[in-house]
Amino acid sequence: MIEKADILSMNLTELQNFIVQLGEKSFRAKQIFKWLHQKSISSFDELTDISKDLRKKLSEKAKIQKVSILEKFISSEDNTTKYLFQIENDYIIESVLMRYEYGNAVCISSQAGCAMGCSFCASAMGGLERNLTAGEMLSQVYEIQKDLGERISNVVIMGSGEPLCNFDNSLKFLEIINSKDGFEIGHRHITLSTCGIVDKIKKLAKHRLQITLAVSLHAPNDFIRQKIMPVAKKYSIDELIFAAKEYADYTKRRVTFEYALIKGVNDSENCAEELAKRLKGSLCHVNLIPVNDVKERNYIRSSDKTINRFYEILKSLNIETTIRRRLGSDINAACGQLRKRYLKT
Ligand code: SAH
Repeated sequence: MIEKADILSMNLTELQNFIVQLGEKSFRAKQIFKWLHQKSISSFDELTDISKDLRKKLSEKAKIQKVSILEKFISSEDNTTKYLFQIENDYIIESVLMRYEYGNAVCISSQAGCAMGCSFCASAMGGLERNLTAGEMLSQVYEIQKDLGERISNVVIMGSGEPLCNFDNSLKFLEIINSKDGFEIGHRHITLSTCGIVDKIKKLAKHRLQITLAVSLHAPNDFIRQKIMPVAKKYSIDELIFAAKEYADYTKRRVTFEYALIKGVNDSENCAEELAKRLKGSLCHVNLIPVNDVKERNYIRSSDKTINRFYEILKSLNIETTIRRRLGSDINAACGQLRKRYLKT
């Protein structure tokens, strides 16, 4: 059997070529593209302004490979909503809807599972299952918007998976979601988070996209970083910070360094001072995150007092810093936590 084409992962040019190959006029492609990315249809039967004949051809040669809602959990604290989605081959992924004053943001996954093995992260525990297609990444946003009935204005690629290890599909996602005939979210409203794949950061920089790059740093030096993030054995912290600098040079965009504070691991005053020294002179911003406790490893969140102290030290050394508000802690709205619990039961 011939594999059906994954039409949701095609950009407009690819869709035009595909439609021409089917023996149709290329202008049909834009019509179909709008149905897929603006109205998020699930089946070719919904293409009401397309001939029956073309609809039939499409369903023979193509498929709309999207995610479908399995369950959702709404936080009683702040309306943060966690979605569990089923994807092809029965894998499960998760996304989070966050309601802010400025709009609705969705945190999407880029892979089912993750191969990076960060010791504090629940997504890492079962290893990598597979990469998501661009269409599967897009449809997390589309399905949540449909379910919510309100516009999604921001996207963060910070769910499970390492987007730079699924580089081509992540890039395709960024291209299609930004497309004016599609969902059209501006790149400045999108953040991509990476654990620090240095060569891929350099590659991404050359595309000069206006997205925000977030780098999960979580330590001020190689010694601590290697203890909690295996990727730190491959790339040194100096190489990583240098790559982030290069990214900022190419794109003129300020890079965010994420730093999850874990009690007794990376939250001392010395750590704050060392971090400030390393980041001095970079166009960057540090986002301090109270870690979500990981019982298996005895990792617990630093106290508010410690977090505030860490913040004050960075500020006093002229590093721009914020403390991230925790959303949805009652629904395990963090990094693979819900999926892990679901898979357990
Ligand atoms: N692989 C990418 C994106 C997914 S993880 C990355 O590493 O950045 C998204 C963010 O959540 C990362 O900053 C990650 O380090 C952080 N994270 C993972 N587990 C966490 C936990 N238990 N508490 C707080 N942040 C966590």
